[in-house]
Amino acid sequence: MEAKSLKLNSIAKCLEEWAPLSLQESYDNSRLLYGEPEATVHAALVCLDVTSFIVDEAIAKGANLIISHHPLIFGGLKSLTGKNDSEKALIKAIQNNIAIYACHTNLDNVINGVNSAIGKRLGLSQMKILAPKENLLKKLVVYVPEADWQKLSEAMWQAGAGSIGNYDECSFRTVGTGTFKASANANPAKGEKGIRHEEKEFRLEVLVEAQVLNKVLDVMHRAHPYEEVAYDIFDLNNPHPQVGSGMYGDLEEAVNAHDFLRHIKKEFGGIVRYTKVHQDSIRRIAWCGGSGSFLLNKAKSVGADLFLSSDFKYHQFFEADNEILIADIGHFENEQFTIDLIAEHLRKKFPNFAVLLTENSTNPINYI
Ligand SMILES: [Zn+2]
Repeated sequence: MEAKSLKLNSIAKCLEEWAPLSLQESYDNSRLLYGEPEATVHAALVCLDVTSFIVDEAIAKGANLIISHHPLIFGGLKSLTGKNDSEKALIKAIQNNIAIYACHTNLDNVINGVNSAIGKRLGLSQMKILAPKENLLKKLVVYVPEADWQKLSEAMWQAGAGSIGNYDECSFRTVGTGTFKASANANPAKGEKGIRHEEKEFRLEVLVEAQVLNKVLDVMHRAHPYEEVAYDIFDLNNPHPQVGSGMYGDLEEAVNAHDFLRHIKKEFGGIVRYTKVHQDSIRRIAWCGGSGSFLLNKAKSVGADLFLSSDFKYHQFFEADNEILIADIGHFENEQFTIDLIAEHLRKKFPNFAVLLTENSTNPINYI
């Protein structure tokens, strides 16, 4: 099978449909960082961090796109002089025409992203978001003639409205009567100009994620028979069950805490720093890829026996307080499977496009 070339923006689109950029944290910089969206990509190299060593690897492998988890440009650039390895890597990428794309906290925050890859390694199947995000959901209410509700709902469902957890095509409708009087300049689909018209209509309600709202509105306007569509958009305070930080889940049965710590070390490598084992068996596990210490209280509040993450400071270990077992496995170690995760996603969508996994560890920390 001949390897296929792709436009850079079609690769970005594939990643962003999975991990929308709007779901990244405010401090983050997930996006296409370097490269022209219309450029042709022959092969992509996936890694956690972009170092000059990784750029060399991309050159050697003929990859003209590097997709990393951590953004190479993070806090903004005022100069680019090669004063550190990140700048050297960027200069080398520019000189060799290698595009750079980062998929960071947006991939942390989606339910089938970084944290689900960690959960699978831990042996969990039923997983929930530990700290679901709020203010990401809207309620869209639209008034539609009875005869047209089905066509309209199907178009809106197709555009992404009406999804709740594992359920699609969710909606609610009530019947009522709409009134309107078309002016001389109007083009009414029902009734006559200048005469008040009454129409049996449905009030159709659907849940819409904020990031697809514009798309759904566009489709709604096109599928609706009326010239002027009457609709309302409401902000919801409901947490989004599938978007947020960290995850938790239950093991099929309780296991010995020390055995589970050994299992973690076997799966993730590196070293495991952990707090006092205050109970013999554990069942509910919470975890967060990257620096997740800010979620410790959340993990306690869902009754987790163990919280796995990385980058805990000395004093934070005290906060386990015999209520939970903290297991700090290292930042690189807990995010390492993100590389396979990104590669698998792209390979599924583009089976004959060359997606390469880096063969170099970018972990800056060594252990003896
Ligand atoms: Zn990270």
